[in-house]
Amino acid sequence: MRIWPLSHIFRMFIAICFIANSSLAAAQPLGTARLPTLGDDGEMSASAERRLGDDIARELYRDPDYIDDPQLLEYVGTIWQALLGAARSLGEISPELDEHFSFELFLEHDRTVNAFALPGGFMGVNLGLIGVVATPDELASVLAHELSHITQRHIARLIGRQAKTMPLMLGAMVLGILAASKNPQAAQALAVGGQALVVQNQLNFSRDMEREADRVGMGLMVPAGFSPRGFVDMFDKLQQANRINDNGSWPYLRNHPLTTQRIADMQARQPRDAVPPHAPGAFSLEAHGLLAARARVLAGPGVDALRQWEDAPADRSFATLAPAERAATLYAGVLAASQLNQPATARSLLARLRPLVAQDAAASRQVRLLAADVALRAGQPEAALPELLATGASQQRPELLLRAQALLALGRASEISGDLQSWVALHPHDAGVWQALASNLHAQGQVLRAVRAEGEARAAQYDYAGAVDRFKAGQALAAKSSTPADYVEVSIIDTRLRAMQLLLREQAAER
Ligand SMILES: [Zn+2]
Repeated sequence: MRIWPLSHIFRMFIAICFIANSSLAAAQPLGTARLPTLGDDGEMSASAERRLGDDIARELYRDPDYIDDPQLLEYVGTIWQALLGAARSLGEISPELDEHFSFELFLEHDRTVNAFALPGGFMGVNLGLIGVVATPDELASVLAHELSHITQRHIARLIGRQAKTMPLMLGAMVLGILAASKNPQAAQALAVGGQALVVQNQLNFSRDMEREADRVGMGLMVPAGFSPRGFVDMFDKLQQANRINDNGSWPYLRNHPLTTQRIADMQARQPRDAVPPHAPGAFSLEAHGLLAARARVLAGPGVDALRQWEDAPADRSFATLAPAERAATLYAGVLAASQLNQPATARSLLARLRPLVAQDAAASRQVRLLAADVALRAGQPEAALPELLATGASQQRPELLLRAQALLALGRASEISGDLQSWVALHPHDAGVWQALASNLHAQGQVLRAVRAEGEARAAQYDYAGAVDRFKAGQALAAKSSTPADYVEVSIIDTRLRAMQLLLREQAAER
């Protein structure tokens, strides 16, 4: 068990930088005017910030708390992309940032309510946050705020002048905290951890930066298709949580203290007329309720909570719930029963859930994906396939990955190789699909292509050393073979190996 959740790491890290730069922050003017842009002497370059971000992201992707849940990632990713689109069209993302930053979203298997921006445009979201928001607008407000910390270069500003000489040290510090969190017995790691603990309660960003992130983030909401109410609703939620508890389960509150000024600012910016909640693209409010329930169950609350969710639909109070709440309660019950290896209970709850979502295409799709999950977990891959074909979105990532899993289990891997290949051709940084493709190719005995896919999965998570290792393994394999198809694959592997070795050398040169 770890002492500090990974999501705290960057907060600690930024806090350390903040102390070093407190005079810089104190010099910021008050009010809603844009913070001054720092000159060449003060701001970390976008490419340097990105390299630092890659180093941190590589460690986060390796961490057991990293979770690639296709349904949740697709949902939060849709909101994130809508906000990015708005930020681009409003000119908040400069061409320089767009060229260098990743704007990559990842999920953390963490029950605490938090989202955090990392250097280089990486954005982490805890399952705990998805589980407590009532509408897509509330979730969008948090992401819009964090995105604005990125686009306004607040991180570069905090890191400030030291950046040119310190990226190494900053990276090492993050890695040191990582090591401490995994191995508290190590004396050196403890020293680093102790230091981090001292600064943990410091503010990351200055108050002015927080207000700027609120203001710029709020400006993204309507253009991105969300109700600006999301900000106020989220503030209300944070205020309530503030009153009820400070047990550490809401870290977002600790580094985003609610000042009356912040709340007043946001309320003043609200439209006068009531605005109904919005849902992005292929998602509905009902689907949001199901996915929030999914996040709560997947956040790993322990066996007792799973049993409670499994039993909740049998509770007397169930009948008094609104239809959408009943659907969410049943969804949580199905998933909890499946996780408790009670497939019969899961199936009977599923049968009650289906008619409740029949009128809502987005919610129906989520229930079919859930049914496929349940079938796969129960060792019935043949029952998963018809559900996945009936969702009406068979080429989407969740369908693709679940179908790949089902066909692999059925010994029919070759049926989906082409679809997996097409996906990675369009999304070369999708490590999850590269990994699925690797398993798929291994099952067909196409070892060389499988090893290359493993290398690409490592590369997509910035693990260049791991990629080099796999590509070299591919070369060694190829030396034993001489079929024409292998020849093409080998030349690809050679090219990719050289590219990865170059990246590794660049990394080493910075150290
Ligand atoms: Zn903030």
